[in-house]
Amino acid sequence: MAYQVLARKYRPQRFADVAGQDHVTVTLMNALVQQRIAHGYIFSGHRGIGKTTIARILASALNCRNAIGSELRPTAEPCEVCDSCLEIRAGNAVDVIEIDAATNRGIDEIRELRDAARYRPARDKYKIYILDEAHQITDAAFNALLKTLEEPPDHIVFMMATTQPEDIPQTVRSRCQHFSFHAVKLVDILGELRGIAEREGVEADEAALSLLAEAGDGSMRDALSIMDQAIASAPMQDGRAVLDASQIRELMGTVPNAVFEKILEAVNANRSAEVITVANTLLDAGNSPAQLARQCVRYLRNCVIAKIAGIGVDGVAADGVAGELLQISADEQRRAGRSAALFSEEELTRFLQVMLRTFDELGYRQEQRFHFELGLLKLVHLRRLLPVEELLSQFAVGGGAVVPAKRPVTGGLGSSGLLGASPSASSAPVAVATKPAFSPFEQSRKRFDEPGPGLAAVRVPVAAPVTVPKEVVTAPAEVAAVAPPVVAPVEAFRPAVPVESAAGTLTSASAASGDAVAPVVEAVAVSRAATDLQPGSLPSAVDLQTAAIEALQAAAKQDTAAEALEDAVWSVEGGEIRVQMAVSKTMLPMVVNAEAEKIVRAALRERGAGTLKLVLIPGSGATAAVKKPRAAKSGSMQAKALEHPIVQQAQRLFNAEIRTVIDLREGE
Ligand SMILES: [Zn+2]
Repeated sequence: MAYQVLARKYRPQRFADVAGQDHVTVTLMNALVQQRIAHGYIFSGHRGIGKTTIARILASALNCRNAIGSELRPTAEPCEVCDSCLEIRAGNAVDVIEIDAATNRGIDEIRELRDAARYRPARDKYKIYILDEAHQITDAAFNALLKTLEEPPDHIVFMMATTQPEDIPQTVRSRCQHFSFHAVKLVDILGELRGIAEREGVEADEAALSLLAEAGDGSMRDALSIMDQAIASAPMQDGRAVLDASQIRELMGTVPNAVFEKILEAVNANRSAEVITVANTLLDAGNSPAQLARQCVRYLRNCVIAKIAGIGVDGVAADGVAGELLQISADEQRRAGRSAALFSEEELTRFLQVMLRTFDELGYRQEQRFHFELGLLKLVHLRRLLPVEELLSQFAVGGGAVVPAKRPVTGGLGSSGLLGASPSASSAPVAVATKPAFSPFEQSRKRFDEPGPGLAAVRVPVAAPVTVPKEVVTAPAEVAAVAPPVVAPVEAFRPAVPVESAAGTLTSASAASGDAVAPVVEAVAVSRAATDLQPGSLPSAVDLQTAAIEALQAAAKQDTAAEALEDAVWSVEGGEIRVQMAVSKTMLPMVVNAEAEKIVRAALRERGAGTLKLVLIPGSGATAAVKKPRAAKSGSMQAKALEHPIVQQAQRLFNAEIRTVIDLREGE
């Protein structure tokens, strides 16, 4: 017999032999036993995972000449011995017609098919049409088919296999049973390959088989095709082909993942030279930059998953969701775990992003080699980068100690050519160098780690100034953090407390600490004070503000308006609800748009403020910060931060607005 490729030679003939699609096979077998046969089936999923195979098995099972429960055919599986089964297997059954819809997609072909479908099957029970790549059929052709699907003759069954079920018209889909196939799991592919290697008399170690299975990437046929190729090029030993990992890698043009582990170690150690050397060796050996970048992306992706899933170096392979996501051998899982342990989740994510971009760019750029090298170097540099607010928090803050003019505000720019991590290395006059770096990220992390409602982390800085009363003003080396709006995490530090309770807990704090109270809270306290002036039965300004904000937060896409109204000062005077906004007149309609205003008015009416008129008073953009009561008190943290030359410089540099001042001196 002529040579048959493995994928065809070992094509499953029974439902039970199909790997990884139990949800489909079990359902179909039940349907067969119960005689509930649909007239249209759609099998969808990735290439090479058994769609056409299952269609053929189903065709055999439907047309098998032995009834289910008979001696030759005890279950719903086809008997594999009757004429019909044998013919379908050989591909020459008269009543099972396989059509490649990619080439027979037009209306004429489908009309022909439809006309032929009217006639009864030649011998067997059903006339079965298997339409491969069914999404290629034109809309007009599908419409021609629709009538047949609507009122199908009893003897007709259509089976459509497709990789893009969404391209099949809804009218057709709704008349068919749709089975969505899963990507085949690594263990399933591995098991299949192991069995085939044995039957083929091929010597293959576990590493080689894992590599083939991984290369299949969820597709059984791909894995078998590569195995075919590998066997063909394998060296023979005692008449048996011997597969080994390095030969397969060479065949696929991939390099061992140990290389990427090494690169990441060098990145971790900040050794650019080593990274470039490794890349050079790989490229000189003839590996293509695009292929290397692709592999690097996959490796980093696995590292990210390993990090998230907490797969350590303890040698325990992941199971459950992490195992499903990884789909790599246990050895590779451990390797990814080792690399992941070197970095934080944020760093790994950034690495992945950079390499993905590099891979993209390699698709159309000239000088591919340089781009690949550049991508790798960026990883090293990313490692040196710090979030801007972390950097700013390291600045020395002192009364008259202005930053020398010759030193750029971005600190370490000089030494590494990048936004460096060590501003202390330059000539900072203040002895703040040994101070540990504070990062708002740390706070954010703590909030996630702490079991509580995340309140503690917010409250601590509020109370902190109480313990350091006068030193704040005089001590030269205290640290204030400013968070310019270029950095997102600012939002994380708004107290996640309902306005009322925040004000409640903090009036005492503000009484004790005098002026040194965190500004966000102060604003709330003030607006509360304003409401205290209001006698009578009308709802208080705080109540109204809370109601308005809650209504906006509940609505879609009104976060900006909610935030702006939260920052505003609310008061009720003379039959008006006066809302002193921080945003300028031009910005106001954009921040609080008509939709938002409608929501707010409705919320206010509901709160019993229907008789009051809502007045939104714009601030002037530039002076908005000053107008806010939280900045009005001289000597407050906000005022101190604003007065500071470095902060002012940073403000100019980033064209920034200061929204929140966080005191990071907790624990001192
Ligand atoms: Zn049969």
